[in-house]
Amino acid sequence: MYDYDLLVVGSANADLVIGVERRPGAGETVLGGDLSVHPGGKGANQAVAAARLGARTALLARVGDDGHGRLLLDSLRSAGVDPAGVLAGGAPTGVALITVDPSGDNSIVVSPGANARLTPADVRAAEGLLRASRVVSAQLEIPLETVEEVVRALPSGTRFVLNPSPPRPLPAEVLAACDPLIVNEHEARVILGGAGAGERPEDWARGLLALGPRSVVVTLGAEGALVYDGSGATRVASVKVDAVDTTGAGDAFTAALAWRLGTGASLAEAAGYAARVGAAAVTKPGAQESYPTAEEVRAL
Ligand code: ATP
Repeated sequence: MYDYDLLVVGSANADLVIGVERRPGAGETVLGGDLSVHPGGKGANQAVAAARLGARTALLARVGDDGHGRLLLDSLRSAGVDPAGVLAGGAPTGVALITVDPSGDNSIVVSPGANARLTPADVRAAEGLLRASRVVSAQLEIPLETVEEVVRALPSGTRFVLNPSPPRPLPAEVLAACDPLIVNEHEARVILGGAGAGERPEDWARGLLALGPRSVVVTLGAEGALVYDGSGATRVASVKVDAVDTTGAGDAFTAALAWRLGTGASLAEAAGYAARVGAAAVTKPGAQESYPTAEEVRAL
């Protein structure tokens, strides 16, 4: 019996957002609106999304011993995430400084801070959490060697899901553990290395599967997703909604899919559910603040 349906290993950031009439150029200062601070980072986003859906969820992450770290811990706790694996100290909490102009275009500077200090030793020390979790998911806002250690430490029978964002070429050992590897178009192209990537999601999925993962999911925004597991490709329809803000939709999708796989759903069934969760998430502004409960997904 597992204590957790999902263990997320990943980043936790404070998103510092200022609306501006025009984003500043080199050497320029502009005045903006009031600062708003939101809990974010792909790891924390995934954990909150899964817990809001009802999954028993833990997060292995690192934050600073500071106000942003406390903001993140509050957000995790109020969503129902077990924060026992959230380590504090060593560096300031990761921060994303975001300026957004009226057309919605943004400029972002990320300071990884404590996320860059989540080490392979932290993974080894969290062996108990790994053993207690049915599914483990990760992203790439933490050091790659930490993700490699997760793959090495994975108990047999525990499923591993990776969203390689921000994308970079991946070692064969990590690719081989993914079931599935979840990518959008940009991530697919980076991991495939551009050459011969093809123009269709089916081409990317086939090319990626040849690199070693047991299955691949390509997310396609308002077009839904494509799942590919060797027996062939299945298109997953999107749900028609009025999109307000797509921030964090991919994290909600990945969390929902990882959780459903652990309940015994097939890849196509889990992706179908995740598409509903992603659609619900784009109907509200923000990332964590936009994530639906299971009830809200049913009502969609
Ligand atoms: P992000 O990096 O912005 O979090 P992403 O590029 O990783 O997102 P997307 O493909 O944009 O991921 O979105 C993930 C899933 O959410 C999609 O596969 C789809 O099911 C759902 N989704 C996203 N945008 C929309 C939309 N406008 N309408 C309906 N569903 C959407």
